[in-house]
Amino acid sequence: MSEAKTDKPIKKRKIKLDEELLAYKGVWVFVESERGHVHPVSWELMGQGRRLADQLGVELCGVVMGAPGPDLEAQCRAAFAYGADRCYRIASPVLAEYRNVPFTRALTDLVNAHKPEILLLGATTLGRDLAGSVATTLKTGLTADCTELAIDPEDRCLLSTRPTFGGSLLCTIVTLNYRPQMATVRHRVMPMPDPQPERTGLIVDFEAGLIETDIVTKVLEFIPDDQRDKPQLPYAEIVVSGGKGLGKAENFKHVWDLAKVLGGEVGASRAAIHAGWISADRQVGQTGKTVRPALYIAAGISGAIQHRVGMEGADCIIAINNDPNAPIFDFAHYAIVGDCNQVLPALGRTFAGYLA
Ligand code: FAD
Repeated sequence: MSEAKTDKPIKKRKIKLDEELLAYKGVWVFVESERGHVHPVSWELMGQGRRLADQLGVELCGVVMGAPGPDLEAQCRAAFAYGADRCYRIASPVLAEYRNVPFTRALTDLVNAHKPEILLLGATTLGRDLAGSVATTLKTGLTADCTELAIDPEDRCLLSTRPTFGGSLLCTIVTLNYRPQMATVRHRVMPMPDPQPERTGLIVDFEAGLIETDIVTKVLEFIPDDQRDKPQLPYAEIVVSGGKGLGKAENFKHVWDLAKVLGGEVGASRAAIHAGWISADRQVGQTGKTVRPALYIAAGISGAIQHRVGMEGADCIIAINNDPNAPIFDFAHYAIVGDCNQVLPALGRTFAGYLA
């Protein structure tokens, strides 16, 4: 693998793919599902996979795995609607619950049988676990937590871009001499495509030959995570975030108040979290959540790259900062230069009057 900063053109690289590796064709997206519920990152990746496949002039395929039943068929149909041309379906009772060993075995066998050139997975807890073991089993390159995927028009290689050196740089990683080229992407980094229900495709069943007694890990009980009181930041349409510029913990009240008026979620910079003003599950950024709301209001946030990568996909960014040279103004759509502890309540009153 080679690594290069994105601000410099990538220098000449030599690809030494032998005949066998040249046979790898097509873009695959692993469709992650748990208890019949497909993780939305799979459809976001399907949208991106479609663009990559079109550029390469190859098929886009979904990989659907789980217990036999109508859920898998429905997932294949959904994959077609989101852009897949074909779905590989692996149905086995052994795959009813996620366990690393059978999923790795089934996916690596499928890859070895049908040879995709690109394999994409969500950077979820499950996706990270599976991608790592599949890549090491296949002895190929995996770029984790990508923020951008593209094709090099010269040599058809996947260019996987991700933050590096603590988020201060972006690097583009290329898997030159191994196939498939693997990448994981966090949810909300790629836009969600519009489904086209009229699209259809081909379902190809794959027999993975899994036997329950070969698998040493057993699922004894499933305890669902109670999401009721948890912030739903990644899918919020409006996010109001506060940073260190709020000055003290009590001032975070202005952020909560405005979010309440707008019906949005509350986010924060890491500095505000480190100050103990708000819980860590509300952090937006590289080491927090990625958000893609219609409206993102950043109050007293400088706009460091580590924060930016988590929110720059917002349709509209309003930044409030008392420093007219704050970096956040370089990419915000609207800039309010002023004290956020005055501007936030004023915005709250304005919106409350407007929405009343
Ligand atoms: P500061 O940098 O202190 O900025 C405060 C801003 O408020 C300034 O621009 C100032 O002008 C303004 N201000 C001050 N007073 C007022 C006022 N009264 N009214 C209006 N504006 C005012 N950060 C994240 O946010 N998310 C991450 O996921 C994340 N991950 C990281 C990962 C790594 C490996 C590292 C090294 C860092 C990470 N960081 C992350 C930290 C990041 O580099 C910044 O330090 C952090 O985002 C700064 O937060 P801030 O903008 O709230 O604070």
